[in-house]
Order: sequence, then C-alpha cells, then structure tokens
Amino acid sequence: MTPLFEARSLSKFFPARDGKGLVRAVNDVSLTLAEGETLGIVGESGCGKSTLARMLLRLIEPSEGKVLFQGEDLLSLSRAQMRQRRRDIQIVFQDPYASLDPRMNIARIIAEPLEIHGIGSKADRAAKVAGLLSLVGLDPAAGQRFPHEFSGGQRQRIGIARAIALEPKLVVLDEPVSALDVSIQSQILNLLDDLKDRLKLSYIFISHDLSVVQHVSDRVAVMYLGRVVEEGAAEAVLGKPAHPYTQALISAVPEIDPAKRKAHTLLKGDPPNPEDIPSGCAFHPRCRFAFERCTLESPAFHAAGGSRARCHLIDGEPERA
Ligand code: SF4
Repeated sequence: MTPLFEARSLSKFFPARDGKGLVRAVNDVSLTLAEGETLGIVGESGCGKSTLARMLLRLIEPSEGKVLFQGEDLLSLSRAQMRQRRRDIQIVFQDPYASLDPRMNIARIIAEPLEIHGIGSKADRAAKVAGLLSLVGLDPAAGQRFPHEFSGGQRQRIGIARAIALEPKLVVLDEPVSALDVSIQSQILNLLDDLKDRLKLSYIFISHDLSVVQHVSDRVAVMYLGRVVEEGAAEAVLGKPAHPYTQALISAVPEIDPAKRKAHTLLKGDPPNPEDIPSGCAFHPRCRFAFERCTLESPAFHAAGGSRARCHLIDGEPERA
C-alpha cells in the first residue's frame, strides 16, 4: 500500500560559515508514514529535525532526495500546485505567539487559510471558525480577541485550530508543547490525540523530549547530527533501544522506565558542532562503546529486533544502501 507520506534520501546542505565546505544539516533521511499513524522524530537541539520538518512542507527546498505525498513527488510541483497541496499538509510551530499575527484577531487568523483557498462565503467561514474554536476547547466568542490576550496554551490551541481549518490529512507538529508548562503540555497532547481520532489525521511529531514523543507516537525515528540513527515501532525503539544514542537518551528520562529511576544518564557532553561532524560514526566521541572502527567507518542500518539502527555493534548483515 502506498504510504501517506514518504521522505526518500532527503538531505539539506548549507554553506559553512567560514565559506569552506558544507554543513550537512540533514543527511540522507528516509521516512515513511502510514495513514492514521503518528511518527515521532526525536533528537537533541541542532540535530536537524526542524530543518527536516520544513523540508517536508517545502518551506525549505531540499538539496537532495524526494518527498512524496500519496505517491506524488512534491518537489516536482509548481508553486501554485504546491499551494493547493498544502491544504492536505499543515504545520504547527513551537512558538504559538510568533506564528500568530498580533495585529489580527483570532477569527481572522483562523479564517485566513480558508480565505486564501477561496473556501466558503464570509458567513460560512465565520461559522467554521466558531466550530473550530469550540473543537479546540475555546469559547467561540474568543474570535474577537487578539493573540496577546491569551495564555501560551490557549495560543497553541489557536495555532492548532488554524492548522486544521483546511481539513488536512497530515499535520507536522514541530515541538508543539516545548514552550508550555508541563501541566499545559498534557492538555495539548490530549487535544491532539482527540483531534487525530475525530478528524482522521496523521501526525509527524517532532520533539527533543523523549517522554512527550513516547506519549504520542506509533513509530519513532531518532536523529543525531542530521541522520536517523534508529527507527521502528515506538515500543521497540523506546522499550528495547538498539542504538547507544537512543539508550543514552532514554537513560536521561527516568519516567519512561521506572526501573532506571536511579540510573545516571549515559549521555555525556553536548552534541558536536554540525559544521565539524566527527568521522565514522558521528556519535563516537560520546559513545561509551566506541572502538576503533567507529572512528573510521559510518555504520549502515542493521535490523535489530523491532527496530533498525546504525551501529557497528549490532549483529547481522547491514542493509544495502
Ligand atoms: Fe557507538 Fe560505534 Fe555504535 Fe557508533 S557505531 S553507536 S560509536 S558503538
């Protein structure tokens, strides 16, 4: 069956600041998303996940690779065709305040995508906005107010209402709860869960927070310095992680595994500068299992139980490139 969404060998290279060489912000990333599924993409800040999110919607043009939506190559579309396609693929950003125009009232902000796509009369759009506000748990009368009059959680509800106004099939959520207090985070996660069921949505959920990703994902991809290093069913990746980096991330989130509550975090130091990616396996300077081969040779994916991971320590034949 054709996946709803697919990224094939997607890469984004930027010129390095010193003018010499390229920064590989995203390097050869392949992902698939089935209809109705939530794919969590997790990694530390600077791993390339937000660049990846923007490439999936062509807000940034990839340097290499393909992006397919229902089998159609999005990179082959003209600007006008892509604008039409964006009805089906929407994004929710981390900072709801920055993504809402402060000069527009909430009703206009939510109605804007409908206006751009010429959907409905003014009265139809007003009715739709009232319905969307209520769907995301806000009073329909809130439409006459402005973004600064709302709390962070309410503003994220408004951002979500705007994203679902065009009845998309896929919503890319880029750190949607990272700017919110923990108590508000769970309310927004529950709302997203509820909307997914009601509106038959599929999500790509991007976060640095493994506990949040665990809460929402059917499948998980773990990114490190622009590459996916492990991916598979959420249960497998988070329950029996094969890659030392995934293991280290999990060790820093004790609530995922209460048995590890006393365990110290296995993740040492900060990620290296993306402009100076280590040779071989990019994780080797921080990996407690690194050996000589790791400094020389970049590992291919190996099947590892329920997931696949890039590590020389995993037994078995590597996947062919
Ligand atoms: Fe660690 Fe080597 Fe595996 Fe990389 S390939 S994760 S450095 S053991």
